[in-house]
Amino acid sequence: MLTVEEARDRVLASVSPLPVEDVLVGDARGLVLDETLSAPHPLPRWDNSAMDGYALRGEEGETASAKSPLLLEIVGEVRAGDPGDVEVKPGTAVRIMTGAPLPPGADAVIPVEETEETDGKVVVKAAAVRGSHVRPAGDDLEVGDVLVESGTELGPGELALLATMGFSPLRVRRGPKVAILVTGDELVPPEAQPGPGQIRDSNSIALRALVADAGGDSLVFPSVRDDRTATLEAFRRAGEIADLVLSSGGVAVGKYDFVKEVVAELGRIDMWRVAMQPGKPVVLGSIGSTPFLGLPGNPVSIHVGFEQFVRPAIRKMRGCRGLLRPSVVAELTEPIKKRPGRLHFVRVGLHARSGKWFATPTGAQGSHIQSSLIDCNGVARFDIEETKIDAGSEVVVEVWRLPEGDQS
Ligand code: AMP
Ligand code: MG
Repeated sequence: MLTVEEARDRVLASVSPLPVEDVLVGDARGLVLDETLSAPHPLPRWDNSAMDGYALRGEEGETASAKSPLLLEIVGEVRAGDPGDVEVKPGTAVRIMTGAPLPPGADAVIPVEETEETDGKVVVKAAAVRGSHVRPAGDDLEVGDVLVESGTELGPGELALLATMGFSPLRVRRGPKVAILVTGDELVPPEAQPGPGQIRDSNSIALRALVADAGGDSLVFPSVRDDRTATLEAFRRAGEIADLVLSSGGVAVGKYDFVKEVVAELGRIDMWRVAMQPGKPVVLGSIGSTPFLGLPGNPVSIHVGFEQFVRPAIRKMRGCRGLLRPSVVAELTEPIKKRPGRLHFVRVGLHARSGKWFATPTGAQGSHIQSSLIDCNGVARFDIEETKIDAGSEVVVEVWRLPEGDQS
């Protein structure tokens, strides 16, 4: 049996980053940057005003106060978008709006609240020293400063900065097209009333959501019958149109489990038992040149298997820098018993109290217990040889999502 880490290394070795594309910055949310970008100009580009007020010379404004105000002649106005080329000579000021360039000669701004305007003159009633309310050029970034590193998933902050710096289009990777194939004669769609022995297909729903969450695009196929020809046709088609083929079920040793046989015919197959619970059998292979990953059908197994193997693979295909979920150390609130021999992923809810994390198992942990995924924030890892973990022990929790904040 392989460890989870060994199995994940093999999965990751079998996928490569997708080709890059040029995408306008406004359309690049969630895509992954494929170049490290540096500042082509300072930010701000020029000295500008932090307030609505008057631009003046600090040497004149530094002694102004309510008791001994300074009177300056207003020689112009700079609005946002104006070039700001009216010179501020001694004895004068220029009306200026927030963000507008500081005109030549001026090196301070007095906010409008500290002034009065009469007859083309401004009365300055508080001190304005050199640099006050001025945002100097390069205050944020200097030329050559790194803006965003290659491999970053682009969110609102990154996109806004790259737009400011004029980077559009961007060299990015989209998520892979992931074909989702669920297998089983027992499956009916969620909208149908199951007959005797039938169950509703929840795995394609779960996998679609998991793929989207990992940054991929799902191609969902109708559920595949446990029939050799049907399986062959569906898997062949999936291999032709997808960047990654994902399946659930049909990889056990049952008489009607055709997935392994069919993938071996269409490409290559490699099957291992991984020392983990749930989700032991993992099948890796390719259909033509398209990588293939087969997960067991149990609804909990596919979640855990997806998180351990498929999500990192999708992230590698996207060119992400970080492939794995972050972990936190938490205090276990209930004891756990397990059999030795496999690493257990116990679904837990997390909550924070006084700056510390607490992890509570989400109930029974069988691979068919779907309710264990409700209010689940991730999985606590219990090592292969452990058998009993006491309440109060510190455990490592792989975080799938953080709990909601308080309402107040
Ligand atoms: P299998 O790996 O095909 O033997 O399936 C293992 C278990 O998972 C069986 O109890 C199946 O009924 C269940 N299962 C398989 N596929 C799905 C699915 N798409 N949705 C929900 N349960 C499934
Ligand atoms: Mg089956």
